[in-house]
Amino acid sequence: SDLVLDPAPRLERDRYGDWLVQYIPAVNAQKTYTCPECYRPIPPRTAHLVVWQESHTMGRNRAIDERRHWHQHCWLTRRK
Ligand SMILES: [Zn+2]
Repeated sequence: SDLVLDPAPRLERDRYGDWLVQYIPAVNAQKTYTCPECYRPIPPRTAHLVVWQESHTMGRNRAIDERRHWHQHCWLTRRK
């Protein structure tokens, strides 16, 4: 089976707010995404992170709709 059980998202706090950070293993990464930090692609089959706001003024569904896919390195070294 290719089933991979993802760990639950972890809560991270920075000066901009609280974020839920979900690790996406390579086997579960099916599409190409654009990283919001470096604007470079995250190709399919690349382990990466999905990040969304933990408490969003517009509600949880809106926060999930606005989730972004990040290179792991870019999330750790983000400037925005
Ligand atoms: Zn990046």
